[in-house]
Amino acid sequence: MTNDTWGRVKSELLDTVGRNNFSNWIEPLEFIELKQGVATFSVPTSFMANWVSRNFSDVILHHLHMNDATASRLNLVVANQRPAAQAVAGAAPQAQAPVAPAPRAVGVAASEPAKPVAGALDGELPGAPLDARFTFDSFVVGKPNELAHAAARRVGEGGPVTFNPLFLYGGVGLGKTHLMHAIAHELKIRSPELRVVYLSAEQFMYRFVQALRDRQMMDFKQLFRSVDVLMVDDVQFIAGKDSTQEEFFHTFNALVDQNKQIIISADRAPGEIKDLEERIKSRLQCGLVVDLHPTDYELRLGILQSKADTFRLQYPGLQIADGVLEFLAQRISNNVRVLEGALQRLFAFASLVGREITMEQTQDCLADILRASDRKVTVEEIQRRVSEHYNIRLSDMIGPKRVRSIARPRQIAMYLSKHLTSRSLPEIGRRFGGRDHTTIMHGVKKIEELKGLDNQIAEDLEMLRRALEA
Ligand code: ADP
Ligand code: MG
Repeated sequence: MTNDTWGRVKSELLDTVGRNNFSNWIEPLEFIELKQGVATFSVPTSFMANWVSRNFSDVILHHLHMNDATASRLNLVVANQRPAAQAVAGAAPQAQAPVAPAPRAVGVAASEPAKPVAGALDGELPGAPLDARFTFDSFVVGKPNELAHAAARRVGEGGPVTFNPLFLYGGVGLGKTHLMHAIAHELKIRSPELRVVYLSAEQFMYRFVQALRDRQMMDFKQLFRSVDVLMVDDVQFIAGKDSTQEEFFHTFNALVDQNKQIIISADRAPGEIKDLEERIKSRLQCGLVVDLHPTDYELRLGILQSKADTFRLQYPGLQIADGVLEFLAQRISNNVRVLEGALQRLFAFASLVGREITMEQTQDCLADILRASDRKVTVEEIQRRVSEHYNIRLSDMIGPKRVRSIARPRQIAMYLSKHLTSRSLPEIGRRFGGRDHTTIMHGVKKIEELKGLDNQIAEDLEMLRRALEA
């Protein structure tokens, strides 16, 4: 076969495999010879040799055949970038092809994944640093996050890959990053030999763009395809960024093919990420998709207690009054980061005043945070939700009717208004058609009572609360 023939074959391959595959995998091949049914090419790295032989040898052979250059197999030799290893060792200059630089054959017939070329990978891994505080030990488990936690634990144990990828999603500050770091810490302890890489999708893009600019795509690909566990945080970031998506997709597939664990997080489910290619969405859905639900009261309280314990260790002697943590868990929204910030400020304040922090001081000290959290749920919203839930008119919620089918939902709305907003009883009364604050208090008490007696009411309350806080 002549170089011309190879040129024709290449242009056919471009049509068959597409522009991206072509420039990544076909273009770098250099034709050397076709002899006795073996077509020999030189490739830049052994990783590539393996990849091409596993994924493209059939199409290449097919197109060779169509151009009267029939071969039964490919022989891909790595253009040796490091002749030192062989030459300097003083080995007899035996049976090496007389081309410079000396090609080194790799076992392309083998179907095992490529052993990475040591030299090129000695550099640092492409990951971001891990936060030492984000461990499984410091992660508080509750109903809203128990599945995500269990899945993360499972992946952190290492062992055979059972779901790939693990896809964690949920709103801001619900613990996605914490869980990913925890997995990485755990793997590093249990299997220090694994190459675990954690980074944000943004950093992935940054690296990719940098590699393009510096013409180091081969290194980039090789680096990312050589890791054992890849974690990409906030993957929604690459939506709409076409070439980054494309590259991510290839990296993803390459690792899945090698049975390497991948862990992805996003702020929403794969199917709901706008401007993300369909094929990527469907790949992301192939493994285990779990969501972190908005925190509930118990989880928030648990987290506050655990953080408060840590603070007390740091600042022995600091005290906060009984009921303060409960109050914060009740009043501060879902976002655990905000919750932590509030507690931190409270302890800083305590260390200034040097005595126990009272409930009043808490309200003072955190007024802005409390107000910001309140904005989330309004009395009006509660009334709307509750009337939808019980299928009554919104106007009846504030109207005078006293039949139980209306009065009960109204009391539930009062109860939720008292617990989910910072409105005072008179303020709530005004929003319920100008009722007196004692009426509101009565309604709240009634529901508090019923909650313990009537399962249906307890369930409804929980459901409504979740819906309102989501
Ligand atoms: P996300 O990545 O989902 O936005 P993070 O993982 O960054 O959220 O969590 C925000 C903060 O809240 C971190 O400081 C984290 O340690 C803390 N946090 C979240 N969930 C929990 C939890 N269940 N237990 C303890 N800390 C938590
Ligand atoms: Mg995060």
